[in-house]
Amino acid sequence: MSMTRSKPENEIYRYRVDGLTVVVTRKKIKHGYIRIDSKTLDVLVSTPVKTDREDVEFLVRSRANWIKQKQAAAVEYEKRNNKTFEDGESHRVWGTDVAIINRIGVGRRQIVLTQEHLAIITPHEISLAQKQKLLGDWYANQVRIVGTEMIDQWAPVLQVTPGRLFVQKMKSKWGSCNVQTANIRINSELAKFPKAALEHVMVHELVHLLEPSHSNRFYSLMDQFLPNWRELKSLLI
Ligand SMILES: [Zn+2]
Repeated sequence: MSMTRSKPENEIYRYRVDGLTVVVTRKKIKHGYIRIDSKTLDVLVSTPVKTDREDVEFLVRSRANWIKQKQAAAVEYEKRNNKTFEDGESHRVWGTDVAIINRIGVGRRQIVLTQEHLAIITPHEISLAQKQKLLGDWYANQVRIVGTEMIDQWAPVLQVTPGRLFVQKMKSKWGSCNVQTANIRINSELAKFPKAALEHVMVHELVHLLEPSHSNRFYSLMDQFLPNWRELKSLLI
């Protein structure tokens, strides 16, 4: 016989706070947290059971700037990702808008970046999902190529020995570093931003091989090796 444990129901409330829609979920947790729904831009607040409306309003108001930033980033994210792939539609490559053109050509499916265009060349018509996949793989490959060059350039400067480089599309992180394996994971979306933004993320992850945590030492190493890192970080919205 299986045992079933009855799960306490979470209580969900919706408030309006300073023009924001706030969806509060009260549940059995110790510390509250706040995040943004990337589609609706609602403010999602999870709180311990004994939290009243005033506490929620205080939390939302105290994080107003953070909320604005996250909402702006979510809007940008949607803009970058909801594309129709019609001829002339602009797509961002290394911080510059480039127009798509669709071409039928012999051989395998490929994407070719020229001075004026980002050409999608396929032997026959392909679906939107297939185009998204093709371009996604192309972006990842761009990041792999440029990222590898950056690692070759920076590893001797920092005197670190990085492991493997993995590039994949990630929704909430630009990069990460596993200090045990020294492997580095980089978000393929960085191919849409200026190369300097990728360089900032790459140096950040490589510096983790010298200092695993975001300690004062970590940031003084960043200041030492990449003095304008804050400026480069701000390219990432
Ligand atoms: Zn970090």
